[in-house]
This record gives sequence, structure tokens and C-alpha cells, in this order.
Amino acid sequence: MSDFRIGTKCVQAGYTPENGGPRQIPIIQSTTFKYDTSEDMGKLFDLEASGYFYSRLQNPTCDHVAAKIAAMEGGAAGMLTSSGQAANLFAIFNICEAGDHIVSSSSIYGGTYNLIKVTMAKMGIQSTFVSPDASDEELDAAFQPNTKAMFGESIANPALTVLDIERFAAAAHRHGVPLIVDNTFPTPVNLRPIEWGADIVTHSTTKYMDGHGSAVGGAVVDSGRFDWMAHADKFPGLTTPDESYHGIVYAEKFGNEAAFITKATSQLMRDLGCTQSPQSAYYLNLGLESLHVRMPKHVENGQAVAEWLEGRELVTKVTYPGLKSSPYYDIAQKYMPQGGCGVVSFELKGGREMAEKFMKNLKLAAIETHVADARTCCLNPATSTHRQMNDEELNAAGIPAGLIRMSCGLEDKEDLIADLAQALEACR
Ligand SMILES: *Cc1c(COP(=O)(O)O)cnc(C)c1O
Repeated sequence: MSDFRIGTKCVQAGYTPENGGPRQIPIIQSTTFKYDTSEDMGKLFDLEASGYFYSRLQNPTCDHVAAKIAAMEGGAAGMLTSSGQAANLFAIFNICEAGDHIVSSSSIYGGTYNLIKVTMAKMGIQSTFVSPDASDEELDAAFQPNTKAMFGESIANPALTVLDIERFAAAAHRHGVPLIVDNTFPTPVNLRPIEWGADIVTHSTTKYMDGHGSAVGGAVVDSGRFDWMAHADKFPGLTTPDESYHGIVYAEKFGNEAAFITKATSQLMRDLGCTQSPQSAYYLNLGLESLHVRMPKHVENGQAVAEWLEGRELVTKVTYPGLKSSPYYDIAQKYMPQGGCGVVSFELKGGREMAEKFMKNLKLAAIETHVADARTCCLNPATSTHRQMNDEELNAAGIPAGLIRMSCGLEDKEDLIADLAQALEACR
């Protein structure tokens, strides 16, 4: 499958039916798997053979879909998780433990910001946040001897900053650690971070990948390129014996290609259990089959709405990396020449109050804590997803209190613009 283009992978990667087998990925709705002898099963528990024994760890339906996403990202291995939050937790916690430190872009999803700043700190993992626009010197200065990973979002939700992946990857590699990129917004249809040097890619599959608002889920993809043994002292979890598996050393036994995902599955999934249900994985796959057809339409609608908003009197600012006025225009063109996503953000004259009035008047765009599905929706982050942040933190993350985030769906752009026009008119 690695020779095929992205659209072909969206449709067919990850699952090849056997002769006479079901054409569609079967939903294996079973918690357990049967073996003839306990010896057969023992081999699985020792990680001596691969196979299924309990769906908390692995399930064939989920594995087919994970393999498709790994192929789409150009990675070596992948796994599904119960949510995007779990994907980022696993990606970080698979290589960090108490006493460690991570460097993260400050421009990230609110849930991930809380995960890193608050919950990781409770687990003894400290963090330093850097601007996505930080200079190389500023990036270098954020690293400490105990830094184990760098984190960023390819297009940040909701600030829509664009990560200079090559520059962040170079900084991470100068300090001997992997770069983890949350690629939820562009999806591998528009951007494949591994091609630009990222080591690990995460997704909230809840968004465009599912695409229809039907199932919460996440995915982690490993490039298989990070050389854990070359930095063995930094990553003892991968390079020293795991006592909970009879002393196997993941990086030795499974190599760079499979060590990361095998450890995340056999250790973190075993102990934390953030598994995706086979039913959800099935829905996710239906979304993936049309992702390459849907993304260009989301981009077309996002671009049209952003351009239209930019000319309006009541709109003080429009943020969309596809606008020539965006400070991220050049970098977005470099990484995503076909466009990024359908999410646009803008500020209205009159701040929070005006934002609320405007949103109330929209007829097609529903107020939802969601982005990136077929139906257009909008949200005021300061009063919803990001309400844990104070004004200073909001500004640092590029999310002023009066900002509206609008996720352009798959409707006709003329109708979306007409809806915006009547809602603006009602605000006069
Ligand atoms: C939504 C989102 C998440 C969290 O994903 P859930 O599936 O809601 O847990 C993480 N990162 C980004 C960029 C997101 O948009």
C-alpha cells in the first residue's frame, strides 16, 4: 500500500479481504478470543507471538483501521485510542515518566493544554510552553537535560497557527528527543508531518477523519524512524528491560519500527485501557473512505467564508492560513499547498457580547463544542472549550475573548455566506 496515493489509501489501506471474506472491514464484536491450548495463549502474553486475546489491548477491527491511518500518514505502525485526548496522553506518557519534562507549543487545543500543564504535572512530568513562532534560539533554550519530547499541532485548534514542522523537528532532534505532531486539522490528506521530520503523529479521529460527528476516537502513528537506542539513557522505558513482560527490551526486540506502538499497546493500553470500540472503529473507517473527497470541499468552503468575512465592516479580524493577509500564509503554502482545513476564526466589533448575539442569529451554523464535521458549526472558545484559561493565557494561546471559531462543513458555500450575511445584518 505504501506505493499508492493518499486517496487510494483512504479507500483501501489496512484491510485486504481473504478469498470469500467480507468486503467491508468486519466488526469483531467480541471481548475475547479462543485458543486450543494455554501454551498458545501464553505466547501472546509473553509477546512471543502476535495475536488477539482480549479487546482491551487489541481487536482486529481496530487494528485494520489503525493500519489504514498509519499507511495514510506514511508511518510504520499505528494504534487507535478511545479519544484524541487518550492519543496525546499515550504518545507522551509512552516516553515520559515522573521527573521528566516536555517542550510544547503554547498554541494547542485546550484539552491538550490542560493535559500537559495540569494533569501531566500531577504525574510528575513538567512542561515548558514555547510560541509556535519562537526562534531557533528560543526553542533551544526551552530544552532541559530531562526533556523527553517536543509537542505541537500542525494547524492549531482553535488559534489556526501553523507549525513549522521542519524547524521544530530539527530542534527536537538537536536535543535527542522525538517531535510529536497532532495532525487532527489538516489530516494526512492535506499534510503528512512524518514527511517533514516528525517522529510521532496523533489524531483526534473525532474530527475530519470520522467527519460526521458519529464517534469519539483517537489514533497514534509512529514513523518508526526515531532511534531509541541511540539515546538509550533518555528512554529507559524502551531501552531497558520491562519487568512486567519478563524483562523484554522493546527497542531491541521490536526494532525502531515497532517498539513505540508495541510498548504503548502492551503496557499503556493494558494498564490504562483507553481502547476504542470496534463499532466506533467501523464508523471511523466509513469516514476515512471519503476523507480525500471531503477535505477539498471543507477547504473550499473555509477559504470562501474567510475571504468573504475579511471584507465585512463589523469584522475586525479574520484568521485563516489560506488568506494572503495571514502571517502563516507562506508556511501554510509550503506545508499544505492544497489548503489546510475548513476551520476559520474571526473577531467581531463588540467582543464577547456581539459574538453571542451573532451566533444566536445564525441559522445553518449550529453552536456546538465540535469542529470538523459535515455540518457547519461555531463556538466562542473563551466561554466554552478554553474557559479554564485566564485572559493572559488566552492571549498567549492566540484566542482573544471575542473570537468565534467557525467550522465550515460540506454545505454549499453560497448558502453559508448568505447565513453569515443575515446574522451580521441582525447585529447592526
Ligand atoms: C478535539 C481535539 C483533540 C481532543 O480530541 P477528542 O477526540 O475530543 O478527545 C486533540 N487535539 C486536537 C487538535 C483536537 O482538535
